[in-house]
Amino acid sequence: MSASLATVSYIGATILFILSLGGLSNPETSRRGNVLGMIGMALAVIATVFGPQVTWAGVPWIVIAMAVGGSVGLYAARTVQMTQMPELVALMHSLVGLAACLVGFASYIDTAHTFVGAEKTIHDVEIYIGILIGAVTFSGSLIAFGKLSAKIGGKPLLLPGRHLLNLAGLLVVIWVCKGFLNAESVGGGFFALIIMTLIALAFGVHMVMAIGGADMPVVVSMLNSYSGWAAAATGFMLNNDLLIVTGALVGSSGAILSYIMCRAMNRNFISVIAGGFGTGGGTVAAPADGQPAGEVIPVSATETAELLKESKSVIIVPGYGMAVAQAQHTVYEITKHLREKGVTVRFGIHPVAGRMPGHMNVLLAEAKVPYDIVMEMDEINDDFPETDVAMVIGANDIVNPAAQEDPNSPIAGMPVLEVWKAKTSIVMKRSMASGYAGVDNPLFYKENNRMLFGDAKKMLDEVLTALKA
Ligand code: NDP
Repeated sequence: MSASLATVSYIGATILFILSLGGLSNPETSRRGNVLGMIGMALAVIATVFGPQVTWAGVPWIVIAMAVGGSVGLYAARTVQMTQMPELVALMHSLVGLAACLVGFASYIDTAHTFVGAEKTIHDVEIYIGILIGAVTFSGSLIAFGKLSAKIGGKPLLLPGRHLLNLAGLLVVIWVCKGFLNAESVGGGFFALIIMTLIALAFGVHMVMAIGGADMPVVVSMLNSYSGWAAAATGFMLNNDLLIVTGALVGSSGAILSYIMCRAMNRNFISVIAGGFGTGGGTVAAPADGQPAGEVIPVSATETAELLKESKSVIIVPGYGMAVAQAQHTVYEITKHLREKGVTVRFGIHPVAGRMPGHMNVLLAEAKVPYDIVMEMDEINDDFPETDVAMVIGANDIVNPAAQEDPNSPIAGMPVLEVWKAKTSIVMKRSMASGYAGVDNPLFYKENNRMLFGDAKKMLDEVLTALKA
């Protein structure tokens, strides 16, 4: 393939990626967005493999790598549970970081291209920054993977003088960079790169370990953004325009998502990154033995069905537990049944419900819930006082009134769905255990709140049977 044809293909792929991102911004066009992204990626891979930068001798290696990587990816995508998606995404981000590091080291020791003067300095700076971002992304994403899969506890690790530690790390990285650029031998430069990589890896671990439970969504989207910048840096090192553009697209859209997440959680970006939220400040976390810190009123599935039958308007608030129980299909069966009986049913979606951005929207779309009854938090929050029943399905932090009522709560200031303002709220969960942020929820003890204990899918099946009886 000639260089100009490869360039045209790259431009075509870039346009497809932009159209894909546009499509993904809306549930109705998201399938088309995905397809456009896939076509763009296929075009990009073909144009790269058959482009001027790859010699025929390299093709078998690429084919082997694609077969291995493709098989692992296919296996992971087919076997992963919907609830494990956030962890899988974090793991994928770590691979982008690792790739940036490996490409950086390979470019440095590659003797096929020799750079001199200013060109050499620019190339070396690209390598240094590429490995730096890649290493932070790699180790940070691995820790995020651990936290999302509950292999590492959600409590933030707050080392004494942690800001000073970070600052000292940064200063050493800058100082080592000077040594790297002035290194007289490849060995000396390589040593400097190793020192910087170790500091960057430690920084990635430290940064994510210091983040408290409820702030994880911001970190997940931030690491998404970092992985984009790591890819862009790889593009600079390999002199590949498409990788630079694609990386910048992912990097900037991830940065916008981080900003949106921060706004949704009413958090300042810098303070999230500095860490320390979600420490369990003034609010007492639910006791480990699952004993309630007050009186709660349990209800049965039949009583829940009665309450729903008698209501005119219902708002359903799904959370992480609905994903765990895979209850979305039954939720929609109940919704259909109630709508047929003339009840107004709508869904209230919190921006950080579940464990990844858009988690609830994906599940509801899978169950074919019509988009026009799925509302964002800001669209529906004022309607709770006129609502008969607010049905909370496996959600906890996103409906916690402590965010508004207790200034000492670790989640203070985070906007929440005000379900307690409905005539009756029903919370469906298995126990009194706390949610991801690890804080107790005063909603459970409110007079107008009822608790329907049990697995969401099982209980909703029972509610549906009672509704139809
Ligand atoms: P929470 O984690 O606050 O609460 C989920 C609740 O679901 C739990 O209290 C649990 O209670 C219940 N549950 C679990 N399994 C089941 C089941 N099978 N049946 C019924 N209930 C079940 O989730 P929310 O969606 O309310 O809030 C999301 C939290 O996750 C926020 O703190 C957010 O910051 C954080 N987060 C969000 C990310 C995102 O991008 N959306 C990313 C990372 C973190 P029990 O055990 O008693 O059943």
